[in-house]
Amino acid sequence: MDEFKFKITSQLLTKTKNNNLIHYWSWNNSKICSSPILFIGGVHGDEPEGVWLAETLLIWLKSFEFKKQLDHLNSFILVPCLNPDGFLKNQRVNGNGVDLNRNFPTPDWCKDFKADRYFPGEKPASEIETTALINLIDQYKPSLIIHFHSWKPYIIYTGNDAKKLTELISSITTYPAQDDIGYPTPGSIGQYGWFNKKTPVICFEELEGTPHSHIWNRWQKVLKIIMYKKLLKTFLK
Ligand SMILES: [Zn+2]
Repeated sequence: MDEFKFKITSQLLTKTKNNNLIHYWSWNNSKICSSPILFIGGVHGDEPEGVWLAETLLIWLKSFEFKKQLDHLNSFILVPCLNPDGFLKNQRVNGNGVDLNRNFPTPDWCKDFKADRYFPGEKPASEIETTALINLIDQYKPSLIIHFHSWKPYIIYTGNDAKKLTELISSITTYPAQDDIGYPTPGSIGQYGWFNKKTPVICFEELEGTPHSHIWNRWQKVLKIIMYKKLLKTFLK
């Protein structure tokens, strides 16, 4: 009898300074020749809502494998927690005290910072989490990057290609859509995705303090639209 092999597979992304392993899950729908959507949770370790959303999304995606309906879905890559060193200490920054969302080698990267929690690192891409994500993007060339945070309720897009989709997400969630967070974010994933890679990036900002049990309810319709392949193309570009 053939051994059952999972199609949604996990791989090691990297090991952090504090010896925590970062994994990612992926599935490639070979029936459609489009590049995957990259989902990232836990960029900031003190925003557990984003990790919970990523983990619940993974459970929902895996349910398609058990129902043998994976072909319904777009290809994806999912990193549930990019910053486990920070997450385990409930701190924004990683094990080296660096804000990963200021550490990407963007044209506007800047060594200045207003508070320790925004420390961008000694130089761009100084952190292992940053270089690992850059390598993942180079390897898979995603068509869209979505990262999950928590703060005030916003949906922020970088790159005009994501404007229409972000406005749709806004209409479903009732969270306002914006093309920036209201202040500069040099070295962020949004800046890197769009200005270095021409890949649109959307940041979901869940309301800080939202209970675990409420989060999937808010985002499930949106994530289902994004994951059903036929609909996504309509809303990108
Ligand atoms: Zn954040």
